[in-house]
Amino acid sequence: MSAPEKMEFRTELKQLLHLITHSLYSNKRVFLRELVSNASDAIHKLRFDSLDSESLLENDKDFKIHLIPDAKRGRLTIRDNGIGMSRAAIIENLGTVARSGTKAFLDKVKEATAANRPDLIGQFGVGFYSAYMVADQLEVYSRQAGDPADAGVRWVSDGQGEFTVEPANRPSRGTEVILHLKEEDKEEFTNAYTLEQIVKQFSDFIEIPVVLHTEKEKDESDDENADKEQAKEEKPLEIEERVINSQKALWLRPKNEITPEEYNAFYTNLTGDTEPPAKVIHYAGEGSVEFKVLLFIPSKRPYGFDYGDAKGGPRLYVQRVLIMDHCEELLPRYMRFVAGLVDCPDLPLNISREILQHNKVLETIRKDATKEVLKALRVLKEDDAEKYRSFFDGLGGVLKEGVREDFANREQVAGLFLFPSLKTPAADRISLDQYIEAAPAGQEEIFFLTGDSDALLRSSPIVEAYKAKERDVLFLTEPVDEYMLPGITMFKGKKLRSADAEKAPDDVAEKTETTGPVKGLLELMKKWLPEVSDVRVSNRLVESACCLVTPSGAMSSHLERMLERMGHADAPKSKRILEVNSSHKAINALAELAEKAPEDARLAAYSQLLLEEAMLAEGTPLPEPAAHAQRISDLIARDASR
Ligand code: ADP
Repeated sequence: MSAPEKMEFRTELKQLLHLITHSLYSNKRVFLRELVSNASDAIHKLRFDSLDSESLLENDKDFKIHLIPDAKRGRLTIRDNGIGMSRAAIIENLGTVARSGTKAFLDKVKEATAANRPDLIGQFGVGFYSAYMVADQLEVYSRQAGDPADAGVRWVSDGQGEFTVEPANRPSRGTEVILHLKEEDKEEFTNAYTLEQIVKQFSDFIEIPVVLHTEKEKDESDDENADKEQAKEEKPLEIEERVINSQKALWLRPKNEITPEEYNAFYTNLTGDTEPPAKVIHYAGEGSVEFKVLLFIPSKRPYGFDYGDAKGGPRLYVQRVLIMDHCEELLPRYMRFVAGLVDCPDLPLNISREILQHNKVLETIRKDATKEVLKALRVLKEDDAEKYRSFFDGLGGVLKEGVREDFANREQVAGLFLFPSLKTPAADRISLDQYIEAAPAGQEEIFFLTGDSDALLRSSPIVEAYKAKERDVLFLTEPVDEYMLPGITMFKGKKLRSADAEKAPDDVAEKTETTGPVKGLLELMKKWLPEVSDVRVSNRLVESACCLVTPSGAMSSHLERMLERMGHADAPKSKRILEVNSSHKAINALAELAEKAPEDARLAAYSQLLLEEAMLAEGTPLPEPAAHAQRISDLIARDASR
């Protein structure tokens, strides 16, 4: 046999290898994904070629990828019975850089800072060479399908710039990559459990079985001839071969052949959520881009779902191989509760994040998947109100962000919202469409009120007139509602209007007259109450003596309270308007007193009490509760001793 022939890597590749081994140490585990994917590709290639010439199969159709750890020698072997490589092919494929991505990769690494460098490997995937992250020498045996046994080849390199090739006898076709693991990686990557974990993480769904070889002590209980004494000293080892990937890419199977139980099990496996999903979205994208989508809408807020920090985006697979756990380009952020995956065979395995962000294919998928999720939610809402309610109670807050983030679908998203309302029993919710449907003819606006709780809003003086006029008011009590509101100023041609807006809507406003004594009282109150911008007669109060309303353009009192609770004590506060009910006996009595004895000291205290009453009714904490208590006690003392 001739001596191994020594050859040099092309320069670019030399640099690449150097970088891989020296700079990109963080996500080492992807090397196995790359090698298993190469093996799987090689098998698919052979399968395809054998359609034309069956003899290529050499009577071996039992396609498998073997994973053989050898802890003693610190080696890991990946063997396939795929298409294999000829001498020329191995030199071409493993010795030169034929990959367009390599140059870009190098440039990227050069400009990357040390801090974000380790991530690059996962983004680019450097194929075969990524094995040098964990191995200081790679040995490859290969024989092309259809070639004679003596046409096999052995390729060896330490990744330092040179490689050797020599003939090798290979009775069976295919490729065997032997990693001579680095000292520090020997233990980890010969550990059966670790290998299984990595395969499950990245390559669980590839169609070809991945067979893990593990050593097992031989059970000799039924081996009658065994020498017991000897067995005790040195138990012979048996190799157990076990398929470790599930191979079940549920999303690739026809929908009508999949049972609900299979979907549920898949969902649980994927998310850890043991509650079955409320809705499964499974379809194949048609048109210029080919892709499969399998998404799930949770039935309620999954345990541990973190409102702000929950990572969005379904998994991205390229031909069953996991590329990314959360591909945020695939769904808008306000759908971060959606779990599942997208498999797009048209994307390259080694796609980078930069490319992902401006990828037309992904844009198409995102648009389409967003539409499908909205449709699924709509169908769920219409078909199973109870299930939808449970979903919405837990995750509707996330969905509400959509009216700010997804301009094109704004109205569709808003149509999915549910709210408590004045005319709806406390436990029930209504949608914007239901609100419009139930509104009297001619009502051109949708009334709402924001506040801390349903109960508080229900008894607010603000809604008295609405109740009297049988107009409904939506109650917006979630913190996200204040964020949401600027996103839906209109819904289906109806303007949204806060019930406590400076001007009461014509639908509820009563005609009022401001008589002489009341006019005088208002002037005095304005003087005593510098906290408010105006004191005026209300045209919307029925039972209560007074209420506070928000001047146009100002923040709602609810938002002001929220900001204050969040520690923004310095947030600008706007002065509000105090409205009084001119037909209320307290106001009339006060007006009389003001007319008779404008200097009476009680007038100031009563005015203050009225303002405090209005603040309490809307849920605003009093700045001086002790002073308030004192005023009440004085009042009691006076009244009781009369
Ligand atoms: P990529 O797979 O992205 O093309 P790699 O660096 O992983 O890049 O591999 C380079 C080439 O080497 C592959 O395109 C393939 O032609 C060949 N190759 C790698 N592994 C195998 C294998 N197990 N069997 C046959 N050919 C292989």
